[in-house]
Amino acid sequence: MSIARRTLLALSTNPWLRDHATKTAFVRRAVSTFMPGEQLEDAITAALQQQAQGATAILTHLGENLTRMDEADAVTEHYLHVLDAVKAAGASAHVSVKPTQLGLDLDRDRCFQNLQRLVDRAAERGSFIWIDMEGSAYVEPTLDLFRRTLARSSLIGVALQAYLYRTAADIEALLPLGPSIRLVKGAYLEPPDIAYPKKSDVDATYVTLAERLLSDEARRTGTRIHIATHDPAIIGRLGGYISAHRVPDSAYEYAMLYGIQRPLQQRLLASGKPLRILISYGESWFPWYMRRLAERPANVWFVAKQVFAR
Ligand SMILES: Cc1cc2nc3c(=O)[nH]c(=O)nc-3n(C[C@H](O)[C@H](O)[C@H](O)COP(=O)(O)OP(=O)(O)OC[C@H]3O[C@@H](n4cnc5c(N)ncnc54)[C@H](O)[C@@H]3O)c2cc1C
Repeated sequence: MSIARRTLLALSTNPWLRDHATKTAFVRRAVSTFMPGEQLEDAITAALQQQAQGATAILTHLGENLTRMDEADAVTEHYLHVLDAVKAAGASAHVSVKPTQLGLDLDRDRCFQNLQRLVDRAAERGSFIWIDMEGSAYVEPTLDLFRRTLARSSLIGVALQAYLYRTAADIEALLPLGPSIRLVKGAYLEPPDIAYPKKSDVDATYVTLAERLLSDEARRTGTRIHIATHDPAIIGRLGGYISAHRVPDSAYEYAMLYGIQRPLQQRLLASGKPLRILISYGESWFPWYMRRLAERPANVWFVAKQVFAR
């Protein structure tokens, strides 16, 4: 992992920097590249714009670890409202949640119940719930949450991170259940005893795992994959696999973050590929934004240019 990436990921959890950066106008301007606005209405408007261009959406409210269960219940109420608002607006959007926002750290059973309320509402509103994967300490409880929910409803999917050594085994254990998996490279700072430190290893593993999830054997169980990456080389390679193995569109979607690799997004849409755009909103954007900078440290120069453009 590069020094720039490691530094940015370490800074993403710095409270002093968070408090100062979030009040700074040029940082707020730079953030708007990746986030259409802080309010749910901004996200829904962006989803409808994506829809006009042929893409569907996933909405997520930014927030990190909570300290009280009533905060987790409030997040749940917010997402119930999101599912209603998305339906009312006629947007084709899923919802993505962080387990810690639903109370995973505080009370696992209440967290499970909160998730069930969301899945039940998603069923009523014709939507779908994704569970984000957070730092490695949360993988086991998050997969447990996913399995328990999947036993009740198929309207649930989970993110798995290709940088973790354990993910290949996690996929094999989940495949008989016909899961919906969002495959990502992984956005957190993880030690080398549990995650590949070299980007080339992460990239190679990503392709191997994605091909496994797209394979005939996986599809026979009902497995679906979100190919959640902006990496043109990986997308090209998997596009070749999909054509060669005649993988139907119903088995996969490409998924990208709002504002990242727009030309690649346009190319996928122009060639008729299914594409879903994850749109974030909310006031707690600092750690999330720092992880986006860490993914491409050149973005730091983009932020710096905004300072001189003032
Ligand atoms: C839909 C979706 C959901 C996600 N959910 C999770 C999750 O639940 N848990 C988790 O750990 N991670 C999640 N991630 C983040 C993911 O783990 C990666 O950190 C992120 O996608 C960057 O990796 P990449 O696959 O795009 O490849 P990279 O090799 O990082 O990027 C490939 C190319 O894309 C471009 N690019 C990538 N990121 C940026 C950026 N920030 N700014 C500008 N250009 C960029 C660059 O041109 C780069 O060369 C999610 C990502 C997506 C797309």
